[in-house]
Amino acid sequence: MRIEVLCTGDELLTGVVPDTNSPWFMARLLRLGERVSRTTVVGDDRAAIRDALGEIAERADVVLVSGGLGPTADDVTAEAAAEAAGVALVEDVATVARLRERYARRQLPLSPNVLRQARVPAGAEVGANDVGAAPFFALTLGRCRALFVPGVPAEYRHLVETQVLPRIERWRAPGSGAFSFRILKTIGLPEARLDEQVAPLSGRHPGVTFGFRVVPPESHLELLARGTTPEDAAAKLAAAEKDARAVLGECVFGADEDTLAHVVVSMLGARGETLTVAESCTGGLVAAALTDVAGASQVFPGGAITYGAALKTAFADVPAELIAAKGEVSAEVARSMAEGIRARTGTTWAIAVTGYAGPGGGDPREPVGAVHLAVAGPTGMWHERHHFIGDRERVRRFATGAALDLLRRRLHEREGER
Ligand code: ATP
Ligand code: MG
Repeated sequence: MRIEVLCTGDELLTGVVPDTNSPWFMARLLRLGERVSRTTVVGDDRAAIRDALGEIAERADVVLVSGGLGPTADDVTAEAAAEAAGVALVEDVATVARLRERYARRQLPLSPNVLRQARVPAGAEVGANDVGAAPFFALTLGRCRALFVPGVPAEYRHLVETQVLPRIERWRAPGSGAFSFRILKTIGLPEARLDEQVAPLSGRHPGVTFGFRVVPPESHLELLARGTTPEDAAAKLAAAEKDARAVLGECVFGADEDTLAHVVVSMLGARGETLTVAESCTGGLVAAALTDVAGASQVFPGGAITYGAALKTAFADVPAELIAAKGEVSAEVARSMAEGIRARTGTTWAIAVTGYAGPGGGDPREPVGAVHLAVAGPTGMWHERHHFIGDRERVRRFATGAALDLLRRRLHEREGER
């Protein structure tokens, strides 16, 4: 089935509002085993919408049209649809009744432009909108079925869920296939290396598409399996995922909705262990990532932002002489920060970060972008030095990811020992 999307709205063309509706629809559609083959965006222009509908109707079996169904003068989608179908606009009695009831309940005056929303192309099948005013309607344009929904994201989602997807499901030919989808998330692996390691697998899994996406500081492998049935697609996906995990090893920290901080918090929670942080160049980003996770208080009592030398000493007991001798950005100071804050708080683990985020700074020993990480735990101390390239924001973001990942890999190792 060839499915297209037509979004309308000047704000989508000026960049004022990004099209967030379509990606959501695409993800939902994939779960049904279908994929969007093309999207088109046009402004609030009757002729442009009409012409786009005409062109799409020649190619597609189904088109989902959104936006421009509201009460204002720039809402012209229904008129454009009527023109494309060569029919008149007619008032839908059920929608008029629904609008009257809706406005009466809210004690709002029913102005003529409100009732404009009840005008749909003659012959259209109309569906009620439980979360807004403008109705859903469906229309046949030649051999193409056109489905119209408002652009307001809440209404869009509701009507796609209740009106659009059930229709598409009904229209699908039996046995026309299914998709299964998985994102494997890695960290500490540049995209080129990810690609290199995974490339040999794609030949062995012809039913699976391997996609790569960089979400700094992470690299994601997206596996999309196509099968004859949902079970077949799931089996193909599982086989590809198994092979991918085998080559990527512990670089894979999670899948789909997982976040690195979430994984770390869950691992600690499962073990009944706790974590604190002493952060210099990340200024609280590690703590922020941890506290983003609901329930983090079970494992994370808090930490310290030891941005300057004085507070590295005051909050994490780093000897002032050590800082003077080795420099604030050094392996020794990172280790000392981790050790000091862990002893102070009595947590199982501590993460310490110290580095130069730039753009200025650096010292004779360490350049901008140099970051020392340390993890102190019950069985020892681990240290890593990184040199991140890029602007301040990027260095801080990568340092945050690497810090959480250093702990994750230690936890992972210890899982293995148990
Ligand atoms: P309304 O009854 O609110 O006028 P409508 O069907 O006429 O609904 P629009 O006027 O096109 O829809 O858009 C309504 C709101 O939804 C606007 O704030 C718009 O920016 C937003 N919107 C429209 N299309 C999209 C989209 N594709 N992604 C995200 N937001 C969108
Ligand atoms: Mg509108």
